[in-house]
Amino acid sequence: MAIVITIDGPAGAGKTTTARGVADELGYHYLDTGALYRGFAVIALRAGIDDAASPALLDALRGVAVEAYWDENGMRVRVDGEDVTGELRRPAVTKLVSPLSAIPEFRDRLMPVQRAAADLGGLVVDGRDTGSVVFPNADLKIFLVADVHERALRRSRELAAAGVEHDVKDVQREIAERDARDSGRKVAPLVFPDGGIRIDTTGLSIGDQIARIVALARERGA
Ligand code: C5P
Repeated sequence: MAIVITIDGPAGAGKTTTARGVADELGYHYLDTGALYRGFAVIALRAGIDDAASPALLDALRGVAVEAYWDENGMRVRVDGEDVTGELRRPAVTKLVSPLSAIPEFRDRLMPVQRAAADLGGLVVDGRDTGSVVFPNADLKIFLVADVHERALRRSRELAAAGVEHDVKDVQREIAERDARDSGRKVAPLVFPDGGIRIDTTGLSIGDQIARIVALARERGA
């Protein structure tokens, strides 16, 4: 049976790697909802806007269509027909996306894009509000958490692998700021979803995380 699995949690808890692994194991599609918000941020930056409070932001993104599509390597993001996947992890995008995603208009515009992915069959989706707001009736809702220091070290390893120069202390501070903003915002804050299952990934390997979630998914008919 094809089920919907949501994986929410703070930045750096291992959502993306875990969700992708679970999707591979089950033969499901993986939807990275943060990547969709990042698509908006890429276009804003191209328009010279790096502050979500800028009055020019809504205009710059008016009519801009962000969509997900899949190829043999997984999910990709297209904005007005152009593939921008390669730009989504730039530090400037990471900085702008969190305040941008707190603006209700952008959340509303991405709602149908996210829900449409469930029509593809089995789906693993990750983000901040996927179990609480986007798919409140999901069959399995996971909430991944991890110690902030461990999350900073993980993100630091990813950045190093991508050749991005950085200071781990800055990474940790940015993660803590992002958590506070994502949890404290009025619209769709990061919250533990009704019926969710909490997994603390501090000290767990990615393989363990994936195996645990796949086992829970199998219990629910995946
Ligand atoms: O998961 P990722 O770090 O790519 O998400 C980027 C930002 O997008 C998050 O900091 C959060 O502010 C926002 N986001 C969100 N709701 C989601 C997914 C991401 O607000 N479902």
